Amino acid sequence: MVNETQFKQILSELGNIDSLVAVSKTKPIEDIRALYDLGQRDFGENYVQELQEKQPQLPPDIRWHFIGHLQSNKVKYIAPFVHLIHGVDSLSLLKEISKQASKNNRVIDCLLQVHIASEETKFGLNEEELQSVLESVKNDGTAFQNVNIRGLMGMASFTDNEALVKKEFSSLKALFDKYAQVSIFNSPFSILSMGMSGDYKIALEEGSNMVRIGSLLFGERNYPAT
Ligand SMILES: *Cc1c(COP(=O)(O)O)cnc(C)c1O
Repeated sequence: MVNETQFKQILSELGNIDSLVAVSKTKPIEDIRALYDLGQRDFGENYVQELQEKQPQLPPDIRWHFIGHLQSNKVKYIAPFVHLIHGVDSLSLLKEISKQASKNNRVIDCLLQVHIASEETKFGLNEEELQSVLESVKNDGTAFQNVNIRGLMGMASFTDNEALVKKEFSSLKALFDKYAQVSIFNSPFSILSMGMSGDYKIALEEGSNMVRIGSLLFGERNYPAT
């Protein structure tokens, strides 16, 4: 777990604490609270059940980000409180989020996940699918009334080939810029979520304005969480 000096060091690299999502998956409540006490308010989880268990035990002003792969049938469990859903990768999921948000009298901010890695295993939309999702949302106002598409999210290949990672991030930035200019929605399309512990510096160079950092803050996880 980082100490205060190390935490401030990381923050100074980011420039803005609001661009840091501290990824606390698999980590205990005490660790989250320790970072909260240093001023961190944005935390990211990627298991619905784990998030559901942690949220009531922690201060209500924490902004919870859901960064994992979200199944439609689980949206209802996080809809009452989730702040931003990063990994939206289908129209049907987006529709369900809007439905559950409406039941809670909320509008939920979402990012569309784009597949940028050369690996097969990562989730996300390709460029055409992204275009098609955005068009559907634009053309069917009522089904998506309770979601705001605030930007894009992506994960680079898990590799030490920095040139490849750089290329993947820059391709996502280009897509982001394309849609940010068009500004099809009433809420600003202004969030570009890319970069993790191992590649956030490259992500920032390539234009990220939201990084999701876990192990660098909390230490290595004891079991793999994807
Ligand atoms: C686990 C996870 C992270 C954080 O990973 P670290 O390498 O520990 O920083 C970021 N984004 C997503 C989607 C994750 O699942």
